[in-house]
Amino acid sequence: MEITQYMETHGHEQLCAFTNKGVGLKAFIAIHDTTLGPSLGGLRIWPYQDEDAAILDVLRLSKAMTYKSSAAGLNFGGGKAVIVASHEQKNKAMIQSFGKFVQAVAGRYITTEDVGSTPSDMAFIAESTSYVTGLPMDMGGSGDPSEMTGYGVFQGMRACAEEVWGRPSLEGKTVAVQGFGKVASYMVNHILEDGGKVIVTDVNKSALDRAKSQGIEVLEDTSKIYDLDCDIFSPCALGGVINSETIPKIHAEIIAGCANNQLLREGDAIDAQKRGILYAPDYIINAGGVINISMEFGRKYSQEDARVKTGAIYDTMKSIMQVVNRSGISTAEAADQLAEQRIEKASNGREIYLP
Ligand code: NAD
Repeated sequence: MEITQYMETHGHEQLCAFTNKGVGLKAFIAIHDTTLGPSLGGLRIWPYQDEDAAILDVLRLSKAMTYKSSAAGLNFGGGKAVIVASHEQKNKAMIQSFGKFVQAVAGRYITTEDVGSTPSDMAFIAESTSYVTGLPMDMGGSGDPSEMTGYGVFQGMRACAEEVWGRPSLEGKTVAVQGFGKVASYMVNHILEDGGKVIVTDVNKSALDRAKSQGIEVLEDTSKIYDLDCDIFSPCALGGVINSETIPKIHAEIIAGCANNQLLREGDAIDAQKRGILYAPDYIINAGGVINISMEFGRKYSQEDARVKTGAIYDTMKSIMQVVNRSGISTAEAADQLAEQRIEKASNGREIYLP
């Protein structure tokens, strides 16, 4: 891979590589765009097949963070870090060493948790740097962001419901949920409280047992989730699940879930639209998590303030639909435009962010 060419094409500012053989650390930090402020994004710990896969992932994910923060109205740029390690290889010394490297990037990148890392890992990182957020609650941090993410997705669903059915309510509507993990569990509680009905599926039997114990209907065969007769299809597990194979099967009028990168290709949003399905762009409605952690950095965290800001996802989703109704572009394109316009406005003569 021609790394700098890829970075130029996609607008990346910086890519850092770090090793510490003594503790088995091999890590990358990517900084996409710091026009709006220091880059913020999680630390992914994953046993990548090779170095190219790790670099491509960290670059791709850092760009997605630029868009997510910008569209959420946050003054943060997009960044991401990866450590190449399996769950078994991960150790405390490795995480502490990574913290020192975060400090070495001197505030252009702020780390937080992502797949494979936890609030306790952030506490180890905080031993060497203040450029970390998402600390455990007993350290004054915001803890697990899943609750806020679930609340934000619900707000996004309400906005879609108003557009499609004329009322910002899920009362009497059936939501098919793919993946009953941390975020989906919080989201489902809001839907049920609002008078909606939920059917969940999950590859993990214990997640289904948990759903059953709460009186929630479950679908054992995960492959049948696309064919369900429902009003909203909610992808809350994997990326790439909205594609040319699944779109024709989906009966729902709305697709709205927390999973990242739900579309397999950019054109899938417009294909869904052509079939009369309103797709809520993933990074717009799952921004509650990043909003939550951003409210901890450099200030005293208040869950109430984070909840108010996350509630604005409802308005963001409504303004995206206004653009779609005016111009006929897809919701995904309208989301990208919203993020890009905010950066363009702020970029007037600005250099890269330096703390
Ligand atoms: P999680 O691991 O708690 O939940 C995911 C669930 O999906 C698990 O129960 C898993 O068994 C299930 N699953 C996996 N493959 C499946 C399949 N093929 N069919 C059905 N179920 C399947 O994760 P989470 O934190 O709830 O995150 C869910 C998604 O939301 C991820 O894509 C994540 O990147 C995204 N997201 C999470 C947050 C957050 O705050 N946690 C924020 C933004 C985006």
